[in-house]
Amino acid sequence: MKIPFSPPDIREEDIAAVVQVLRSGWITSGPVGEEFRQALTNFCGSKDTILLNSATAGLKLALRLLGIGEGDEVIVPAYTYTASAAVIHHVGAKIVMVDVAKGQYFPDPTAYENAITPRTKAIITVDLGGVPVDLEPIYTAIDTKRHLYQANNKLQESLGRVAIIADGAHSLGGIRKQKRTGNIADFTAFSFHAVKNLTTGEGGALTWAKHVPFNSEELLQIARLNSLHGQTKSALDKTNSASWEYDIAFPGYKQNMADIMAALGLSQLKRYEETINRRLEIVKKYDTQLLAAGCKSLTHIGEDYRSSGHLYLLSLTGHNVVERNDFINKMSEQGISCNVHYKPLPLLSAYKNLGFNIADFPNAYAQYVNEVTLPLHTCLTEEQVDFVATTATNLFTTHSI
Ligand SMILES: *Cc1c(COP(=O)(O)O)cnc(C)c1O
Repeated sequence: MKIPFSPPDIREEDIAAVVQVLRSGWITSGPVGEEFRQALTNFCGSKDTILLNSATAGLKLALRLLGIGEGDEVIVPAYTYTASAAVIHHVGAKIVMVDVAKGQYFPDPTAYENAITPRTKAIITVDLGGVPVDLEPIYTAIDTKRHLYQANNKLQESLGRVAIIADGAHSLGGIRKQKRTGNIADFTAFSFHAVKNLTTGEGGALTWAKHVPFNSEELLQIARLNSLHGQTKSALDKTNSASWEYDIAFPGYKQNMADIMAALGLSQLKRYEETINRRLEIVKKYDTQLLAAGCKSLTHIGEDYRSSGHLYLLSLTGHNVVERNDFINKMSEQGISCNVHYKPLPLLSAYKNLGFNIADFPNAYAQYVNEVTLPLHTCLTEEQVDFVATTATNLFTTHSI
């Protein structure tokens, strides 16, 4: 049996939707993107959304919109993918990394609170595995430190506090306290990369919550300029007859989403609730066997939340790096592809070179050493789910690792 880690689940209706765009005469940003953009906003219950070519572009755009740059600090957990932190570096601000709580994949709100200084402009939280971070205590922590906050522009003044930007690359459709991701943090960046729950091949979106005190139309306008060269007229607008004239307001980026991709996203969004339900069903099956055997896993359904069921993070309790890697090799011998989420950032060259030391992040390291991520996706058959659960449980319980 060959079980891939996270293949895209592309169905006939997705293919038909893309073909329709290919035949339409307009294949880059246009009407289908507009439809996808609005459907996403409605789905999240957020204020408004811009489509982009990646979540990384979305995170960076949020920092840019807030005017964050040199001299500013942005806080981020050590237990995440590089994109959550690299964007801080891209805009010239200082990366301030916090450790996760002991035995947890997420930092305590007090870790964020203690890291806030007069230079702090934003916190990037990470909805790891699809679990929406409980932001209420983090908003409270920010409030406690509000007297330190120094606004440098109009947008920061109107917010009057440290902003929360969610790295929601995993968490589209996650719910916490009746709110969906996208409408919890001030800004949320989603990823539609090929391995994510909903994919456009490469792609992403930045959405902002209903509660943000900004002029949303203005924000969308600036976000659009920022994503399309700073050009005052889109390619579609320019094709209207005698409408060629345009200006470049500032030297912007180029990170828009083409309609070919938007069609793929829009088509998958139509069945996305089912996608999440199926993923959570698989999580439950894995948990039934593996928790009983004494493993620990990321909790996807809690008292006040439901995740998007993106990643099944498993702790092989009591085991070390060598045994964990041995487990992954033995799973691979059975045809099952596993992964590790994540190697903490201070273990990577880029962050070592920036001065980070894993010794300062003992909890992140402890989570990493025995973590293994099992395949979790909607291409898995019942038989495959059972095979993965049984193989993993046997490897763990027979101490063959
Ligand atoms: C995939 C991922 C990203 C980056 O998404 P892109 O769309 O590839 O830019 C960011 N953060 C996390 C946690 C991710 O898993």
